[in-house]
Amino acid sequence: MIQYKTKEEIELMRESAQIVSKTLGLMASKIGEGVNLLDLDKLADEFIRDHGAVPGFLGLYDYPKSIITSVNEQVVHGIPTDRELRSGDIVGVDIGVLKNGFYGDHAYTFAVGEVDPKVAQLLKVTKECLDLGIEQLVEGNRIGDVSFAVQQHAEKHGYGVVRELVGHGLGRKMHESPEVPNFGKRGRGSKIKEGLVVAIEPMINMGTRRVLQLNDGWTIVTADKQPSAHFEHDVAVVNGKPEILSTFKFIEEELQKQNSLLV
Ligand code: MG
Repeated sequence: MIQYKTKEEIELMRESAQIVSKTLGLMASKIGEGVNLLDLDKLADEFIRDHGAVPGFLGLYDYPKSIITSVNEQVVHGIPTDRELRSGDIVGVDIGVLKNGFYGDHAYTFAVGEVDPKVAQLLKVTKECLDLGIEQLVEGNRIGDVSFAVQQHAEKHGYGVVRELVGHGLGRKMHESPEVPNFGKRGRGSKIKEGLVVAIEPMINMGTRRVLQLNDGWTIVTADKQPSAHFEHDVAVVNGKPEILSTFKFIEEELQKQNSLLV
C-alpha cells in the first residue's frame, strides 16, 4: 500500500533529504585521487550525526557501513573499503539518513580527476535520465511514465538499463511502495497522486544491462565490467507537480570551486 504524505510530513522529509544533500556536498569537497573510501564513510557518518540524524543504511538489512560507494563497474551497493580512488575512476555515493522518523536517500556519481570523455558522457546522460523521469512525476500520470522516460533516454544513447534494482517509495521506511523501475511502458503502474514521495534513481550501464552480485552479498557489478552511473533524488508530488526534496546544489558549488567535472 502506498503511504501518501501530508504537507507536514513532506516538510520533515525535505529536512532529511537536505541532510543527505549536504553530506554529499561534503563528499564532493573530499573526493579526489588517493582518497580512501573508509575515510569518506567515517566523515559522512560524523556529519550526519552532527546534524541530529542517523545514517539510514547502517544496519539496514544488516548493511555494515554508513554510506555506499560504488566504483567504476560497481553499479550500486558497494561497501566502503580501504581502496583508494584514482584519477579516471567514477564513484557513486549513495547516502541515507533518518531524522524525525523519516528517511532521506539520494545519490550522485562523481568523476575522480580526469575521466574518459565516454565515461563523462555516461554520467551526463544518467543525470539527464533522472531529470526526465522527475518531469513525469505529475498527478494523473502513472509510474510507468517515469520509467519509460528514463529508459528511452538511456537506450537512445546505447546504454544498458539495469532491471534488477529499482527506485522506490520513501517515508517512514527506506523502501516503501511503489517500486519505480527505470524501464517500463507509458500508462502502466500505480497512478501518481498528491502526497506521493519516491526516490527516483536511474542506474545506467555503459554496456550490457546485465549485472552480477559479488560474493560480499552486496556489491552489484556490470556483467561486462564496463562502468555504470547512478543518480538519485527524493521527489514529492505537491500541488500535482514534482517537487525535488533533495538538491545537488551543495555538490555543484564544491565541484565549481575545484574546477572538477560538472555534469
Ligand atoms: Mg534509493
